[in-house]
Amino acid sequence: EAARALGADIRPIASPQDALRIARQEPERQVVFFAAGFETTTAPVAALILEGLPANLYILLSGRLTWPAVAMLLDSEQPGFDALVAPGHVATVMGPEEWRFVAEQHHLPVAVAGFEADSLLAAFYSVLRQRIEGRVFLDNCYPEVAHAGGNPTARRCLHEALEVVDSNWRGIGTIPASGYALRPEYAAHDARQQFPDHADPDRRRQGEMPPGCDCARVVLGRIYPDQCRLYGAGCNPRSPVGPCMVSDEGACRIWWASGVREPAAQDAVAP
Ligand code: SF4
Repeated sequence: EAARALGADIRPIASPQDALRIARQEPERQVVFFAAGFETTTAPVAALILEGLPANLYILLSGRLTWPAVAMLLDSEQPGFDALVAPGHVATVMGPEEWRFVAEQHHLPVAVAGFEADSLLAAFYSVLRQRIEGRVFLDNCYPEVAHAGGNPTARRCLHEALEVVDSNWRGIGTIPASGYALRPEYAAHDARQQFPDHADPDRRRQGEMPPGCDCARVVLGRIYPDQCRLYGAGCNPRSPVGPCMVSDEGACRIWWASGVREPAAQDAVAP
């Protein structure tokens, strides 16, 4: 909104191809495609880069890998969970075996699940049964879609267009080898290289977590959303304070949509 007020032309798009279309339709303008997401949404961006970009299209990439964040939590020895239901859509691209380290290195039950109820229930059943029976292994409960090795074409695109770099996770800090960046040969289309004022300290401050927002601890599983002191009157979908309340996929927004409208009693709030 702030950029729009300054005259920027900002348009939400549904796919990377929309950015390509806009850049081709308006070759006299510089078009920056802000691409944020995990492996599943980053792979189409990588494919777009490999197809060849018009000279006026730049990519501002904020791509992240999922498993390093989970590994960071597990390495902290305070993961906040006793079993893991791993994201099936990520496994579809990267392969379910990417999550084997949870069982083999951290001795926790792990099951890959899709978004459908039957796959989720199968994954919940699997990790509970593993826990009760005292054995741990990787169980793929999304076998019809998530195949060993993932999607070779998507992985090739990710590898050829992008490199894995240390990345900052808002409110959490830098996690080694947890993000994607354009390879140097595509620097002419890398918005971070071509418009380096994004690193300006004032802009960086604007990107920090709002005061009082506990999104970092929510996404790390340290607290439930309603244990944030702002949840409810201070932060709700009509007037979101933090990113977890903005997106439909945000943890606080989901909590709200499930009917929880009040903050938890303060004695339930984690320190
Ligand atoms: S309730 Fe709002 S302020 Fe609190 S963690 Fe969630 S998004 Fe952040």
